[in-house]
Amino acid sequence: MKQMHDFILKESESFFYSVFLNSMVGQVIVDENLNIALANNRMFEYFDVEPYNTNGLPFGRAFFCKELGRNCYECGKSIIENFKDCGIINAMRDIQDGKTIISDSVIQYSFHYRNHLKIKWFQINGCNIAYNNKTCTELIFSDVTELKLRENQLREWLSLDLATGAMNKHSLLNAIQKLTESERSGSRHSIISMVDFDNFKLLNDHHGHLLGDKVLEKFSDIARKYIRKDDMLGRFGGEEFVFIFNDTDEQQSLKILKRIHKELEAYFNKKFRIKVTFSAGVITVDDKDFIPLPCTVLLGKADRMLYQAKARGRGRAMSSKGETLFASSDIYSKEHD
Ligand code: GH3
Ligand code: MG
Ligand code: MG
Repeated sequence: MKQMHDFILKESESFFYSVFLNSMVGQVIVDENLNIALANNRMFEYFDVEPYNTNGLPFGRAFFCKELGRNCYECGKSIIENFKDCGIINAMRDIQDGKTIISDSVIQYSFHYRNHLKIKWFQINGCNIAYNNKTCTELIFSDVTELKLRENQLREWLSLDLATGAMNKHSLLNAIQKLTESERSGSRHSIISMVDFDNFKLLNDHHGHLLGDKVLEKFSDIARKYIRKDDMLGRFGGEEFVFIFNDTDEQQSLKILKRIHKELEAYFNKKFRIKVTFSAGVITVDDKDFIPLPCTVLLGKADRMLYQAKARGRGRAMSSKGETLFASSDIYSKEHD
């Protein structure tokens, strides 16, 4: 198909061409092979380049797709088996096939932008247009990147306990449920640890709830500093937290818990002259847990270990290896135990 401005436009046509060119949404017209016949100014603005002649180019080449020459040998044609289908090309095909409303029409697009990669999200729609004895396809692109980023932020907030920044109970339980449903191989396992602060009611009574809140906040900050990217920390209840340590063993997890305890204890000792300790129950998610179990079964096991740690004097963890002291003294026992 020729570029539109190769035709001598009648006055009415040039008016509509100008509307197309200066539209507030991005518009692209592609031929039957999905190569670009025309792109309007807004499209070039989306990619922060001056308008240039994209006639005959596939979309990915015209708009600097990250995958071209990397995972795709041709625009939309992947080198790698099972590589996620190209959203843009699929959307174009859907519209070409007459589907004017695409079900999941927000598409992520990664492209080269100056010397780095950038991601944008586009909502795409369009329709087929008969022109000059041919049928071409018009696509309308709306840049919804700002909305998508805000949505992602809100999703993240919804999964968090806002007071401590740990995951909230809902996302924690989902994560534990996933552990029992996914296959695992070799000797590396996931470890679940339930943590409960010692004599927290007394701490609140003697030093006030605000200081109690500060302990929980500081604990979460320190813990998130020590756990690895794939590990998780969630707030299970009031002053109870759950760690998920992935692809590791009990010994490594106990080392991390001990470090967290040490830093937290030192911080409150130095700053407020108070003793803050916690106890932990540690369990390994092993092969027999992969018969999908309700996550409560695993948490119940960790809770029983935690109970033993409390009964043995607090400030320690219980695991299948026995007990690991977090602090040297055993001044934590309550009279009523
Ligand atoms: P134990 O060593 O047996 O765990 O004794 P404990 O006093 O910590 O007993 P328990 O775990 O049953 O008590 C929980 C206390 O934690 C009671 C509640 O007031 C306090 N708590 C729960 N959530 C919060 C919170 O968000 N902020 C503060 N400051 N206190 C909390
Ligand atoms: Mg407690
Ligand atoms: Mg408790």
